[in-house]
Amino acid sequence: MEVRRRVPPPHGSAPRRQPATGGEGERVRVQAGDALPLPIRHTNLIFSALFAASLVYLMRRWREKIRSSTPLHVVSLAEIFAICGLVASLIYLLSFFGIAFVQSVVSNSDDEEDYIIDSRHKQARAAAAPCALLGSPAAAPEKMPEEDEEIVAAVVAGKIPSYVLETRLGDCRRAAGIRREALRRITGRDMDGLPLDGFDYASILGQCCELPVGYVQLPVGVAGPLLLDGRRLYVPMATTEGCLVASTNRGCKAIAESGGASSVVLKDGMTRAPAVRFPSARRAAELKAFLEDPANFDTLAVVFNRSSRFGRLQGVKCAIAGRNLYMRFSCSTGDAMGMNMVSKGVQNVLDYLQADFPDMDVISISGNFCSDKKSAAVNWIDGRGKSVVCEAVIKEEVVKKVLKTNVQALVELNVIKNLAGSAVAGALGGFNAHASNIVTAIFIATGQDPAQNVESSQCITMLEAINDGKDLHISVTMPSIEVGTVGGGTQLAPQSACLDLLGVKGANRESPGSNARLLATVVASAVLAGELSLISAQAAGHLVQSHMKYNRSSKDMSKALAEATADKPKKC
Ligand code: ADP
Repeated sequence: MEVRRRVPPPHGSAPRRQPATGGEGERVRVQAGDALPLPIRHTNLIFSALFAASLVYLMRRWREKIRSSTPLHVVSLAEIFAICGLVASLIYLLSFFGIAFVQSVVSNSDDEEDYIIDSRHKQARAAAAPCALLGSPAAAPEKMPEEDEEIVAAVVAGKIPSYVLETRLGDCRRAAGIRREALRRITGRDMDGLPLDGFDYASILGQCCELPVGYVQLPVGVAGPLLLDGRRLYVPMATTEGCLVASTNRGCKAIAESGGASSVVLKDGMTRAPAVRFPSARRAAELKAFLEDPANFDTLAVVFNRSSRFGRLQGVKCAIAGRNLYMRFSCSTGDAMGMNMVSKGVQNVLDYLQADFPDMDVISISGNFCSDKKSAAVNWIDGRGKSVVCEAVIKEEVVKKVLKTNVQALVELNVIKNLAGSAVAGALGGFNAHASNIVTAIFIATGQDPAQNVESSQCITMLEAINDGKDLHISVTMPSIEVGTVGGGTQLAPQSACLDLLGVKGANRESPGSNARLLATVVASAVLAGELSLISAQAAGHLVQSHMKYNRSSKDMSKALAEATADKPKKC
């Protein structure tokens, strides 16, 4: 088996831009089917016909020459054309059916230097791997310019730290390629499946990821239209969990056919809680009293708000553990998720307090009472980021037609599973079916911090029968959705495109913060759709099983099962 790799373009050469689907600098592989500017089946037909005609003609000529004792090497013009036609069509047909060697000939060009590493080459590398792990670098280096070869060798030898490559070379793509090659030689692992080209490494420098050696690709699906507060939205979801987008999409359909969902942002404030220590608990209590005295709020706000045009102090909540004091500052952060902003404001306040409380020992800018990226009751009760409630009334006929179940079964399942079951499990903010599935997929697609799915997925799902038990009222209450539309990963091109799809890209100039708040409501409403679909799928399965078990129905249950699952995502 052959492994095909691409040589990086010579340094200094500008990456080629492709007009169509490729990303920046992405190169298009020439395929056999590109031989003629025609649809592939017409190209196939032409070359097959050419092959057959040339072959038949040459065979006939060959037979005639043998009969007439004409030397075979004496060829007419027509025979030369037939030979050329035969060779060309043979190359085309072989390359079309995937003979890689021939393909490489077909697709070779000045711009795209492909080369082939045969299996022996690869095995040799694999054999070298254990030596590499023991400290002897793997052999068979990639073809690189001599200058880069020296840098790779220096990185492998530990003479140049890998993390300085970007600053030293001033070329992020080149730095990533050299780092990767050094890594390959150190570990003996090729990482063939991890793409290197086609990514703008400059865009992540100093912001999103250090020491890059490639990038991971994730598919983005879209669920919708999601009818929310009168808007028709299409929700991008980056996931590798099959069925998740389909299931959310079904929930969107049920919501849309029932008139849509509506949402309210109850609170909007990011938090940071430094930990400080005093010589005594009494002194810690004195600072607590100072911070919580409403008379001091304006002074604290002036100091805090110096950090940013957008960060505005909302309040401070304190907790004491012995002589340690935890001060949970909360502030609005415009369209930013706000961790940097709130941290800067907190630092200002700590510097200010130090003058009046010189015995205050700052242990950490973050003392975990914040509480960031950890499951904590404080976020569940007091909220963090955006606190959102989203609701919809799903009509009886939609529950039957789209969700393949009934209102009573849904309400019953929600109580037993999401409320009682989660209570039995000792859940903290986990009174839902799979909120984190939807939250994480949207977070990744839109450039949020995926680790904040921990608190952002806290959700209680409530289901009630209304209108004499005919219709379903469903709501999700999510107190700590941490999202932003500026800063961090939101500025990267793909993530920014997903934000744009939702109409919340970047900062909202007229009303700072409204883009981020809208994004939070999108997250909550997509969770609503996901909850609706999954609970319905489970209720339908449960109903069918219990019918079978208790034999209450004379219906053909295999038929009922087929009906119940026909429109339902298979896993969910
Ligand atoms: P975070 O605080 O979420 O970590 P960053 O500090 O990375 O975010 O990004 C916020 C930056 O964006 C700040 O420098 C801020 O001044 C700027 N900014 C521009 N417009 C806005 C806006 N509408 N809301 C919030 N920040 C904004």
